[in-house]
Amino acid sequence: KTKKIAIYGKGGIGKSTIVSNIAAANSKDKEVLVIGCDPKADTTRTLVGERIPTVLDTLKIKKNAVTEDILYMGYNDVSCVESGGPEPGVGCAGRGVIVAMNLLERLGIFSENLDLIIYDVLGDVVCGGFAVPLRENFADEVYIVTSGEYMALYAANNICKGIKKLNGKFGGIICNCRGIDNELEIVQEFAERVNSRVIGVVPRNEIVQKSEIDAKTVLEKFPDSKQAEIYRKLANSINLNNDFVIPEPIDVEVFDEFFRKFQ
Ligand code: ADP
Ligand code: SF4
Ligand code: MG
Repeated sequence: KTKKIAIYGKGGIGKSTIVSNIAAANSKDKEVLVIGCDPKADTTRTLVGERIPTVLDTLKIKKNAVTEDILYMGYNDVSCVESGGPEPGVGCAGRGVIVAMNLLERLGIFSENLDLIIYDVLGDVVCGGFAVPLRENFADEVYIVTSGEYMALYAANNICKGIKKLNGKFGGIICNCRGIDNELEIVQEFAERVNSRVIGVVPRNEIVQKSEIDAKTVLEKFPDSKQAEIYRKLANSINLNNDFVIPEPIDVEVFDEFFRKFQ
C-alpha cells in the first residue's frame, strides 16, 4: 500500500527542505513521488537539480499534457511534480493544486507502483485549493512544520483547524528550529495543547543553504553530515509512525496568552 503524507506549514518555514530531504532519505529502497503544492514551485528543485515546468504552466501551452510533460525524475529516481500557481497578484493560488490533482489522477500517476507520496503544501491559507491534499484519496497523514516563532505557530494552529474540519489524520509536528529562546519548549507545549506531539527536531544549520545554492538536498551534497543523519532519522520516524489524532486547535485569545508566557 502507498503511504501518502502531506507536509503543511507557513511559507518560508522549511517545508520544501524537509520534503526533499526525506524524499531523498527514502529514495534508495522506495518508489517515491513528491508533489509540490506551493505556487513558489521550488519543492523539487533540490531533487532534480533545477526548476521543473509546473502543471499550470504546461497546461497553458499544451492542453493535452501527458505524464512526460509534468513528471520529472530527480535524485535516485524520485518522481517530481510541481502544481504551480498564477502570476503573482492575479488569480487563485489554490487552483493550481486542484488542477494538478485532477490531471495526476487522469494520467494514472497515483496508480503506479508507488511506496510513498509526499505533498508539500503552503499553509498560510487553508482554503479550498490548499486543503485538497487533506481530502480523501490524497494524503492519509498530515504533518506540520513550525519553528517557535509566533507567526509560524499561528499558521500551524490554523492548519490544525483545517485538519480537524476535514477529519484528517494528524501525525505530529516537525520543529524546524530558528534558534529563538526556549524554542523546543514552546513547540513541545504547543504540540501537546493541540493534542499532538513533536515527531522530529531539525536544527538550523548553514549547510542547508549551501546545498540549496547547488540545487541539491543535504543528503546528496553532504551525505555524511550530522544534518543528513537528522533528516534520515526524521524520515524513519515518519515511516514508523502509527500514532494519529484529530488535532484540537487553540482559541485565538488562549493562543496569545500561551505565547506570552514564554516571553
Ligand atoms: P518553505 O518550503 O516552507 O517555504 P524552504 O524549505 O524553502 O521553506 O526554506 C526556506 C529557507 O530556509 C531556504 O532558504 C532554506 O534553505 C532555509 N532553511 C530551511 N531549513 C533550514 C535549516 N534547518 N537550517 C538552515 N536553513 C534552513
Ligand atoms: Fe483560490 Fe484559496 Fe483564494 Fe479561494 S481562498 S480564491 S481557493 S487561493
Ligand atoms: Mg517551499
